[in-house]
Amino acid sequence: MSANAALLARSLAAVWHPCTQMKHHEQLPLIPIARGEGPWLYDMDGRRYLDGISSWWVNLFGHANPRIGHAIKDQLDRLEHVLLAGFTHEPVVELSERLAALTGHRLGHAFYASDGASATEIALKMSAHFWRNQGQPHKNRFVCLAGSYHGETVGALAVTDVALFRDAYAPLIRPASCVPNPDARQAMPGETAVDVARRAAAALETFLAEHAGETAALIVEPLVQCASGMAMYDPEYLRLARALSDRHQVHLIADEIAVGCGRSGSFFACEQAGITPDFLCLSKGISGGYLPLSIVLTRDAVYNVFYDNDTARGFLHSHSYTGNPLACRAALATLDIFAEDEVIAANRHRATRLGEAFRAAVGDHPRVRHLRQQGMILAFDVADAPPDFARRYFAEALQRELLLRPIGPTVYTLPPYILDDVHIDFLARRSAEALEAALAG
Ligand SMILES: *Cc1c(COP(=O)(O)O)cnc(C)c1O
Repeated sequence: MSANAALLARSLAAVWHPCTQMKHHEQLPLIPIARGEGPWLYDMDGRRYLDGISSWWVNLFGHANPRIGHAIKDQLDRLEHVLLAGFTHEPVVELSERLAALTGHRLGHAFYASDGASATEIALKMSAHFWRNQGQPHKNRFVCLAGSYHGETVGALAVTDVALFRDAYAPLIRPASCVPNPDARQAMPGETAVDVARRAAAALETFLAEHAGETAALIVEPLVQCASGMAMYDPEYLRLARALSDRHQVHLIADEIAVGCGRSGSFFACEQAGITPDFLCLSKGISGGYLPLSIVLTRDAVYNVFYDNDTARGFLHSHSYTGNPLACRAALATLDIFAEDEVIAANRHRATRLGEAFRAAVGDHPRVRHLRQQGMILAFDVADAPPDFARRYFAEALQRELLLRPIGPTVYTLPPYILDDVHIDFLARRSAEALEAALAG
């Protein structure tokens, strides 16, 4: 038995894998990974895979990155963890200051948790609690966009509009309202992405005109709704949503868990619309893909409404690992790389190359639709894809040393920010080959 096969059998017996129907593993490969280096993952038998999805969108600067690794090791010898209630430490202070500076000091208060779904929960709770402290406790409902994804805990599922993730748990959930999204693929003949954005904003305006009195916040994924299939939209929607939120006294929560940290082409996606949300959620890439960490940034105006002699008017939410020093050091090392390597500028060239390579590889394919890109996210849809297309494509890509996991009929790549031209050509060419094989198979 190969090393791969041995570990695979033990994993299937003992580990319940996420987002997986375990029975599918009777046919589908499960890949035991032994180590990573840069954009490559290596399995137990020494085969390699180019990580085209940054290990679920978290890894920004490659696996086994020496700069991030060094920072964590240094922190490990000083302080691995201390509770953040009643205590503080240099890494969490510095990280909060640097994130505030990145927002132009408009979001100057950072609240910490360990995963994205918790950041969503925190933003929702803070918003509703804000209105309660303001004497408006009836403002406790939320509005999200059709096709939104904000995490899978019971509170986050309430603002997540992906039927597969939500239907089984519907009786547990107090659902939010859903308004039309501005997905540019909805453009009718002669319409632009801006026209679609304006149409969706008009629907939001109608909703708020009627329901603002009971609505605490609107939550959006700025520029790209990732988990529902990389739906991209014009920044005009964010400008209009910001103006409508202000006019109707509703908070705007920007969930930048996936699109933040340079993924959209700017450090925060909201920058491209020139707006500041009331709450900004970060996770995934913020620690470089090293340790679980999430952060909710908010304004003075929100913070001040909780600042009081009365304990119950404070925000009493907590997680055991809130502000973990190791995770904060990983995040500081990640921000150092952004600054030292001028990553946002370097990614402009990388993103252009990525677009060119994919247009050359699949742009003229008769089944490819809506080849689209936002910064370091590139996606296309496959027309008339068979129902098991995503799993077939995943398996065919693995055969070709490539890790890509389509969402339904949407093939996408969301790679680490270290790909060179050779990696990019490899990614585009092998992904086109996997497409042929998945459609032929
Ligand atoms: C991944 C994701 C989440 C949830 O983060 P987890 O760490 O998986 O809980 C929330 N919102 C968006 C936009 C995401 O992409």
